[in-house]
Amino acid sequence: MATLGPGVDSLDGIRDLTGAGMNVARFNFSHGSHADHLRRYEWVRTVSSEMGVPIATMQDIQGPKIRVGTFPGGAVLLEEGTEVALAPGEGTGDAGRIPIAYLDHVDLQPGSAVVLADGMIRLEVTDFTGGEARARVTIGGTLRDHKGAAFPGSTTDVPVITEKDVEDLAFGRELGFDLVAASFVSSGAHIREIRLLAGSKPVVAKIETADGYANLDDILTEADGAMVARGDLGIELQLEAVPRAQKEILTRTNAVGKFTITATEMLESMITSPRPTRAEVSDIYGSVLEGTDAVMLSAETAIGAHPVAAVRAMDAISREAERCPEFEFSGQGAEVHDAAPYSSAVARAAVETADRLGIDVIVAFTESGSTARLLSKYRPRADVYAFTPHEATYRVMSIYGGITPLRTPIHNSTDEMLTFAERYLLEQGIASTGDTAVMVAGIPPNLQASTNLMKIHRIGTQTDGTPKH
Ligand code: PEP
Repeated sequence: MATLGPGVDSLDGIRDLTGAGMNVARFNFSHGSHADHLRRYEWVRTVSSEMGVPIATMQDIQGPKIRVGTFPGGAVLLEEGTEVALAPGEGTGDAGRIPIAYLDHVDLQPGSAVVLADGMIRLEVTDFTGGEARARVTIGGTLRDHKGAAFPGSTTDVPVITEKDVEDLAFGRELGFDLVAASFVSSGAHIREIRLLAGSKPVVAKIETADGYANLDDILTEADGAMVARGDLGIELQLEAVPRAQKEILTRTNAVGKFTITATEMLESMITSPRPTRAEVSDIYGSVLEGTDAVMLSAETAIGAHPVAAVRAMDAISREAERCPEFEFSGQGAEVHDAAPYSSAVARAAVETADRLGIDVIVAFTESGSTARLLSKYRPRADVYAFTPHEATYRVMSIYGGITPLRTPIHNSTDEMLTFAERYLLEQGIASTGDTAVMVAGIPPNLQASTNLMKIHRIGTQTDGTPKH
């Protein structure tokens, strides 16, 4: 997944990211105007149809994140030991006065900590009167426009969905994003509220607060997927607690059959450097082994100097991790607890059958994409080719780990489905006559039947197993 921004602000830029391995484009509504997002969205759609690849688009709404305003030239340097004024609002400030949205909804006291820019800058409040604070810079640094502000240890009283979110979701609904990511989610009820405004598309819960992490089970009853949003999570939790939280969020989300994203600072050094660090390579590799479906780039592609190299590196590292023997076993064993238990059981049977018989190809026919999602949760060794007649499903499946989404016309029988899949596998050189594939589908076709069929199929034979003439 790659975040779009000024770093790749052209049709060619998006074409290059796609060629390098981007499957999902993230639109970060904490930055940029609707006109910026519209322009980039149209480029993504153009590239997707031009290159014949599905690219899912994810609208990431800002949520009740407290952020600083803007600065002349886009940034200010806050020097350690200096004192600055903190003022409520989202206007323009300078090195002596920092505007912070919802500051008047934070219960600050002298001595309270203020953390800016994902923990890079720290201040200590010296005085707080009439909604305005004065604070001393204890760790200095460059503060850029719209960076986050957090207040560890202070209570806040900010709205769950802001006016900006309501406007952005209306815009996104009109435009047709494939997924919505909800920021600062703390409960399942919060997801329900977002869903009402988002329309019928998957909603991803960004787990980035201590409350969200504590209420993960409740959130997962409502959300379609979860993102380990390590930036903000690393401010609310001790930094050294984040790896364990990541592992737990991935494991628990995968166990209920929902998709997972790991995000933030994955290739941070590549914002300026053309090569990743060894530690970054290990981080991405480890996240894939821990079971994440997707890995996400933020500033690396949005504003970085090497966006295409960053996607290429992430793609190569992820593919290498998927070749690791440990990866092949990461989804095996436990039953995925899905709301559709028949589909989950058939998906598991298909994966186990392919593994046991050494079959390299699983073909899935899916209306909603849920068959593909469940197959992906069992992390098959085989490649999964997921055919759907629906454009929205085709695109959303891009986020499911190890799935190749494909379009198919509507079929009226299982035989038609098989013939269509066979032709594709043969034409693409994926399989030869006499090879075996596992096929899963919900039959009868076109009735949104839950997955109820698994067939071991020898390519080039009829459905009864006799050779085709
Ligand atoms: C994060 O905090 O890690 C995150 C992904 O959210 P955002 O980039 O919106 O701050």
